[in-house]
This record gives sequence, C-alpha cells and structure tokens, in this order.
Amino acid sequence: MVVFLFLKTIIFFLSFFFSSVRNSTSSILTPEEAGKIGNSAPVWVPDRRVTMCQNCAVEFSVLVRRHHCRACGKVVCAPCSGNRAPLRYRDFESARVCDECFEFLEKGKTFF
Ligand SMILES: [Zn+2]
Ligand SMILES: [Zn+2]
Repeated sequence: MVVFLFLKTIIFFLSFFFSSVRNSTSSILTPEEAGKIGNSAPVWVPDRRVTMCQNCAVEFSVLVRRHHCRACGKVVCAPCSGNRAPLRYRDFESARVCDECFEFLEKGKTFF
C-alpha cells in the first residue's frame, strides 16, 4: 500500500513536470502575430520571472546576460539577440531583436 502511494506521487510529479515543459515551449508565433512584429512596442516580459533564454533555453547567470528583444519583448541571451533590425514603431531605427524576429523582419524587407 505504501509502495502504491509512492508510485502515485511520482506519477503526479512527472505529469506536472511534463505539462510545464510543454507550456514553456509553446512560443511559436502564429502568422498573424508575426505580421505585427516591429509595428508596435512589445509588452516586455519581466526579467525576474525569466530564468532562461526564451529562444535557446540557456540559463541566465552572471556570464549569460539577459537581453530584451525590441520587437517581441522576449528575454533572450546575447547569442540569440546578436542582430539589430529597423522597427516600424521606432521610425525604423535599428534596435536589438531576437533571432526569430530578425529572420522574420529580414524576410519582410522584400515586401517594402
Ligand atoms: Zn539564447
Ligand atoms: Zn523577438
């Protein structure tokens, strides 16, 4: 009986763990959201609630600094935000963007 309870607890924690992992990886932009990138100021994700890069999942530390993407507001590491791109809401002034936004904005240039 004790063993049964023990297993039940483990299963509970495992399912909790997997559901939280699934939630954290659901950051893929829909085409509609992607179309708005750079058109308006993003809602910045509060730094303190983010413990790892929202792009490559590296953990932030004294060496791995947080950077905000000026296009989508995500908190990413330096290698994931090494590019700058002109943003419409800043009168096309260049600003730091994450790789995901950079790729999108670069593609979008062909339409202007
Ligand atoms: Zn990263
Ligand atoms: Zn971004």
